[in-house]
Parts: sequence; C-alpha cells; structure tokens
Amino acid sequence: MGITIDMSEELLSPDPAPTSAGRRGLNRRVLLATLGLGAGAAVVGTAAPASAATTWSNPTLGRITAGYKSPSYPTHLGTDVANSQGTAIWAASSGTVVGVRTNSYPGDTRTGLLPGRTGNGVLIEHAGGYRTYYGHLHSVNVSVGQSVTAGQRIAGMGTTGNSTGNHLHFEVHLNQVTTNPYTFLQGRGITLGSTAPAAGGWPTLKQGSTGARVTVVQYLLTSRGYSTVADGDFGAATTASAKRFQSAKGLAADGIVGPVSWPELVQDVGSGSSGDKAKAAQTGLNIHGAGLLVDGDFGGVSVTAAKRFQSAQGLVADGLIGPITWAALV
Ligand SMILES: [Zn+2]
Repeated sequence: MGITIDMSEELLSPDPAPTSAGRRGLNRRVLLATLGLGAGAAVVGTAAPASAATTWSNPTLGRITAGYKSPSYPTHLGTDVANSQGTAIWAASSGTVVGVRTNSYPGDTRTGLLPGRTGNGVLIEHAGGYRTYYGHLHSVNVSVGQSVTAGQRIAGMGTTGNSTGNHLHFEVHLNQVTTNPYTFLQGRGITLGSTAPAAGGWPTLKQGSTGARVTVVQYLLTSRGYSTVADGDFGAATTASAKRFQSAKGLAADGIVGPVSWPELVQDVGSGSSGDKAKAAQTGLNIHGAGLLVDGDFGGVSVTAAKRFQSAQGLVADGLIGPITWAALV
C-alpha cells in the first residue's frame, strides 16, 4: 500500500501518491466534540478556568498515512491525513490565525511557517496555550489576525513543499511543544480523518440477543465487578447484571447494552492485560477471525492480532484496544 510522506522533518526516499483508498468522497459533516476543560486538563495536564469549554473538530477527512513520531518516522511531528487535492481543511478549534504562507509550490524546499516545515501552511493559536499547524496546503482561505471557529473551513488540501502526495500534515502544540494529534483528538471523542465518531457503531444488545458480542458484554460486566456467566446468551441474569452496572454508572437501568452503555463498559486492553477484560478483547478479535485462545492473557499473539485488526480497519495499529478499537471490534 502506498503511503504519503512529507519530508519536511527529515529526508526520505520518495513514496507513491496516495492510493484510491485515500480518495474518499468529501463528506462535509463536521465532527465536533465539546469537552469541559476539567476533563481536558486531565488529558493534557494544563490548568484552565472551570467555566470554560473548548470545542475541537476534525481538521479534515481522509486516510492516515503517517503517524506522530512513528517508529519508522521518529522525527515526524504531526499526523498525515491523505485525500484528494482541495479536500476541505477545517480549523480544529476556535482561535486566531497567527501565521499564513501561500507562495509555495510542490517540490518547494524553502522553509515554511515553522522551522523544518515546508509548503503552504496555516498556524492557529487557541485558548489554553494550544496551537495547531496545517501543512502542504493547496489553497488558503484565511489571513493573519482573523478569528476562526472550530469547524470553519480554512484551506484546501494539497502537496506543496517537500511532499509526495496530497495530504494534510497536522500538528498540535501545547506551550510550544508538539503532542500526538491523533491521541489528542481521540481524547476528545474525535477520530482524526474519520467520519466515524468515537462512540459510533456500537451494537444494541438486550435480553434475547445471542452470540460472541453477548459473550464480550458478559466478560466486560464480570470485569467491572458484576459477575456474569460468559455463555453468549443474553438472558435474565445478564440483564440483571447490566442493570446493576448501569445503575452504578448513573445510566438509565434498562438492561439494554447500546451506544450509551458500551463506552462506559469497555476497558483499555493492551500488552500485559489479563483477566476478563482481556478475555473480552480476545473474544472480540475472534469475531474478526483472529482465532485466539480466550485465556485472559493478552500477550504477544493477542497484541499482534490487535494490530492486524487495527491496520485492516484503518486505525492506528498500536495494539492497544481503546474505545475506538472497541467500537470497531463489536
Ligand atoms: Zn507530515
């Protein structure tokens, strides 16, 4: 599979342009997530007024072709999202445009808005010490000093500068230090580049449901302290466990495990995880043909299966089953 790289942070041999898989039709739906800064502070370790709220938006739609400081590209300070030329780029949050460069062209190696970056770009300053950078743009719709809101169109995707295919090079800075844009947005309910919200795709399971997804629910309920026999049969006992779990979480105790309950029910599973949550993840991977032994020991074989699944789904293949991977699994 071809990947798109930009060589603004290091020199690499040219890569092919994005494959057709990256040229999805443009969906103008903007995914917004509003988050109280109390929760935001827990993620990024910054202080902010309790009354304030910051909204973040997906900056574009497409296929992730290079991650932040990935093992194969350790000096890469952003995440690359590929799509066709002109694909809308939106401000990731409200703020003020503090930098614009528009005079670049494909193959231009001159330094851009920031050291080491090339091509047309936009730099936006947000509240709380955040800045976002959008690189390799084809066109720019904003000017320095302009106020923008989350989800406002600011540019069109391109391949200006030292880049080998149309993509957005997206960076998030906190107090002048870059952070991983994918996980940053993930913590705010946004899947970078994807139309699928983090909580999307959850199945609704209830009394009478059967199958491996029910088994996943049963293992997760047990892991949460509501011991349930993992027999794949959503009967009265599972309904009772689900109601107790929901009640403890302050949810409507209807015993139906759907989009509201799933995000509360799942737990992160990664290398070294064990017990019923690991059994749940192994069962989920087996729904997709992993063929794992459901032993509750999430070791190397399980991690490899998780990475393979994530890669096939277009997710970040880190082997860690968090909410986004869970939603895809079940
Ligand atoms: Zn990049």
